[in-house]
Amino acid sequence: MITTKNCIIRLSRYKNALYRLQALGFVKFFSDNLADAVGVTAAVVRKDFSVFGISGNKKGGYQIETLLEKLNSILGKDRLQKVVVIGAGHIGSALMRYRGFEKEGIKIAAGFDIDPSKVNRSSPVPILPLEEIKGFIKSHGIKIAVLTVPDIAAQEVVDIISASGIKGVLNFAPLRLKSPEGCIINNVNLEIELENLIYFVNVMEKTK
Ligand code: ATP
Repeated sequence: MITTKNCIIRLSRYKNALYRLQALGFVKFFSDNLADAVGVTAAVVRKDFSVFGISGNKKGGYQIETLLEKLNSILGKDRLQKVVVIGAGHIGSALMRYRGFEKEGIKIAAGFDIDPSKVNRSSPVPILPLEEIKGFIKSHGIKIAVLTVPDIAAQEVVDIISASGIKGVLNFAPLRLKSPEGCIINNVNLEIELENLIYFVNVMEKTK
């Protein structure tokens, strides 16, 4: 089965759109409805579903409830996912304060920092010294880390945490990191995203 990152991003979008349809009182939907809500073609929806063995009834459509269960299970959202944040600077602290992850079944179990002045064991998301990360990851069964350390520290931290059992890293440091074996790195580069937007806004303004 070949699944691309974009395919999985679409599954998350289908799931969110289905929750919106359910909130509006719908019980069933057709691939056209979902395609419109997500901005893809119905053929793409059907192809994505077929990759995961989801089949609908052409005439009757799909049951929202059943499909949500299936999508949540595929996306690993049928159980709480605990993650850690490494680097309690501006971005890391903002993520730890953000309450929106919990409704998505994602809990930031702790933050970690190398700077002893950032340690705060009694904050709602405790901030612990980096030396404790290995034991914490093991005892809490954590596989995902969000990396918000400065770029010069990022590769070293990735190497340490992957050796401690982390399998997936969401990297906010603005550089490409080498993935240690058995560890997936997804990058969020806010500067590049903004630069990209600035470019296209400028092009749009010039062609007006
Ligand atoms: P941000 O990039 O989140 O805006 P900032 O500008 O406040 O953060 P940075 O210098 O980017 O600060 O550092 C982010 C945090 O990462 C700091 O709290 C810093 O102590 C921490 N940090 C730096 N090196 C490491 C490391 N090797 N391991 C863990 N934490 C680290």
